[in-house]
Amino acid sequence: MSTPTVYCASGCVVRGQHRQTCETRDREVDPCKGCLPRAAEYGNLCAFCFQRLQSDVATAPALVAHLREIGEPYAQVAPPSDTRTYRDPAEGGILHVAWGAADEIHADLASWALLILEEHPNGSQMRGPDETGAWHTRYGTTVGVVVAEATVRLCTWLRPLLPWCAAQEWAAEMRREVGALIATTSARWPMQDSQARAVVGVRCARCGFESLDYTPTKGADLPFDVRCVNPECGRIYTEAEWDAALAKMTVERGYVA
Ligand SMILES: [Zn+2]
Ligand SMILES: [Zn+2]
Ligand SMILES: [Zn+2]
Repeated sequence: MSTPTVYCASGCVVRGQHRQTCETRDREVDPCKGCLPRAAEYGNLCAFCFQRLQSDVATAPALVAHLREIGEPYAQVAPPSDTRTYRDPAEGGILHVAWGAADEIHADLASWALLILEEHPNGSQMRGPDETGAWHTRYGTTVGVVVAEATVRLCTWLRPLLPWCAAQEWAAEMRREVGALIATTSARWPMQDSQARAVVGVRCARCGFESLDYTPTKGADLPFDVRCVNPECGRIYTEAEWDAALAKMTVERGYVA
């Protein structure tokens, strides 16, 4: 007795291998390049799909931070009366497209987190992701981020649950949706990995100069390296300190109710 093979729910195939019924494999013109379904190794996903899902969720925080940084100079020039517009998407307005893209990524991942809480057998006892710094509508729906660190917290919560997600019937949909969002967004606003960029609008907590550099460190536990480039200071920020610096900035600009 052998257990029937489960195939990757994304519909992946093995290159160069074919179903018995494949008719075009030996054709001269347009031959099939492979149609044998790929076995699922993690729940309903093949190893490639599961690895991609994991790496997309791991990449999201750095991408959101990158997008927030791109939109930052535009938010600075907005008159204070527009902060309300920024906070309510229904009222349209000045939200920079990069920030909109960051919101879209966060909101998508948050919707998967919500589904996990609804469907996981222990969901009712599970503590959901820490929503500090997320942006909610007045009805409580998570629609984006006010502080990029919110996405770090969300993804930290999501990552250990991905093996469970891979076993759900919607695994392929999650992998496709998250994958498409991360891929199209990174294509539009590429991250120059490991390239330091000056942080606009945040003063160093130690020396008070606007002299912080931000470097995404993809794949590491801490998704960034923030340090002061003032040679007389050189402070390196922990996640909590960076979080505090960003929170202070958003309070000063009136983004937090
Ligand atoms: Zn074939
Ligand atoms: Zn697959
Ligand atoms: Zn400094």
